[in-house]
Amino acid sequence: MSKELYDVAIIGGGHNGLVAATYLAQAGKSVIVVEANAEIGGATASVRAFPEYDARLSRYSYLVSLLPDQIVSDLGLNFECISRNVSSYTPYSKDGADKGLYVARQWDQATVDSFNEIDPTGNDWKAWQSFYNELLEFAEKIAPSMLQPLKSRSELKAMVDMPTVWNYLMERPIGEVIQERFTNDIIRGVILTDALVGTLASAFDMQANICFLYHLIGNGTGEWKVPKGGMGALVKELERVARAAGVTICVNSRVTEVHSNDNEIALDIADGSKVRAQYLLSNAAPQTLAKLRGTQAPQSLEGAQMKINILLKALPQLKSGIDPRLAFAGTFHAQESFSNFEDTLEMVKRGELPEKLPVEMYCHTLSDPTILSQELQGQGYQTLTIFGFHTPAKLFDSDNEAMKSAALKAAMASLNQYLVEPIENVIVAIEVKSPLDIEGEIGLPRGNIFHKDLSFPFREDHQLPGWGVETDDPRIFICGAGAIRGGGVSGIPGHNAAMAVLDACK
Ligand SMILES: Cc1cc2nc3c(=O)[nH]c(=O)nc-3n(C[C@H](O)[C@H](O)[C@H](O)COP(=O)(O)OP(=O)(O)OC[C@H]3O[C@@H](n4cnc5c(N)ncnc54)[C@H](O)[C@@H]3O)c2cc1C
Repeated sequence: MSKELYDVAIIGGGHNGLVAATYLAQAGKSVIVVEANAEIGGATASVRAFPEYDARLSRYSYLVSLLPDQIVSDLGLNFECISRNVSSYTPYSKDGADKGLYVARQWDQATVDSFNEIDPTGNDWKAWQSFYNELLEFAEKIAPSMLQPLKSRSELKAMVDMPTVWNYLMERPIGEVIQERFTNDIIRGVILTDALVGTLASAFDMQANICFLYHLIGNGTGEWKVPKGGMGALVKELERVARAAGVTICVNSRVTEVHSNDNEIALDIADGSKVRAQYLLSNAAPQTLAKLRGTQAPQSLEGAQMKINILLKALPQLKSGIDPRLAFAGTFHAQESFSNFEDTLEMVKRGELPEKLPVEMYCHTLSDPTILSQELQGQGYQTLTIFGFHTPAKLFDSDNEAMKSAALKAAMASLNQYLVEPIENVIVAIEVKSPLDIEGEIGLPRGNIFHKDLSFPFREDHQLPGWGVETDDPRIFICGAGAIRGGGVSGIPGHNAAMAVLDACK
């Protein structure tokens, strides 16, 4: 690495680091990105997980909602996301018969019929429509603020001007609201999943509200789309625009210490080299940055999810008789009723794993087969992405491999109860990632998919204005998921940290 003094150094080449780097380089700054791993992308990588098969799976993150169109167009990214016609499918048994709750993205008769079957009163589908219409209006109003300086609580509340919705999203546990407005346990659970993704919380903890909010406001619609070509397609494009703007990217360069004084920042790299810069952005988690600086790490919940990636020779058939191409195109929920979530939380807190794990799943290749070779496509192969809930890192501490086998068994049991034949009959290859694996491979502390607990997208009224990326050192900023308004595949903290540096340079 050169002895040059860069304007900005960035620890980590995750998607947010690359977004920040490109905004800064396009504004004329000299920028270096130092990434610990051999590949950039962090949690947005696509990989050939099974070397004998030409299938490039989104190994960690897999759907996109939070990435603002503005970032895609500002940076000139040639990156597309595909809408899914099916929003979700949730199989269940009623009076000994196998059924399913089908929700199309555009409300249709099949959706109404499906709601009426599970809730003959008709109340829940009406409640669903009014609830999500309110959330949509709220999302449209709040989304643009994500790329602006951080508003105070009162400013944002006044700007959104929807006091009832503000109250139930920001001030009261979302679990109470779901229970008040909906009656059916399965319908309540489908709604609740958005509040618990990667978050070991009860429906009645405010942390669930924050997670819920981020899952509903992306791009002003909250729609979760399929990244065309897989998540790695985003990284490829970000690398292209970063290099075109003049960003230096160094892989295999783990930062081991950070030193700062009034004039500059110095980074020690594991190979013995050093990097010097006027400003530092950390795409690594705030806990990692604290270790590198020798300061106190922030407290956070640990990661609580299992990621399972599967290559299949054919889609499994369902007992309910629905076409699997519909059931698996959207989000497929299993064992995710409201009461299952609460019961599972209690079990895992006691250190026990349930026999059937709450999981959600989708088939990428139904929307976008291009992640498979022509040959595999021709042979009818498909991929499944399973995200298991409420599997905290501490369950895996004593024996990661043994707990992964147990949790995989529990995930398969959840699915198999609704399938004609066990899913194992069609699986060609499978990989399982526990929170500990995720920490080991890409450095997410305790496998927390958001680096640390998500925060509401505002500052308290008494706190200083800023971009939500500041630290106690005026030369050091957080540009990754651990910033306020970070978390998820969004590029938002990358954008905001770049703006904070440009403001500081004025
Ligand atoms: C299993 C899983 C599924 C998910 N699913 C989704 C999803 O479908 N949709 C969604 O929106 N979000 C999802 N997320 C969350 C989302 O992927 C992350 O919040 C987001 O990608 C974080 O991006 P980032 O750029 O801030 O950080 P990261 O992607 O974590 O990148 C940080 C980078 O810093 C590097 N680094 C760390 N320490 C050092 C060091 N000391 N020196 C140098 N480099 C270092 C790391 O190697 C890494 O490349 C998921 C996450 C996981 C793990």
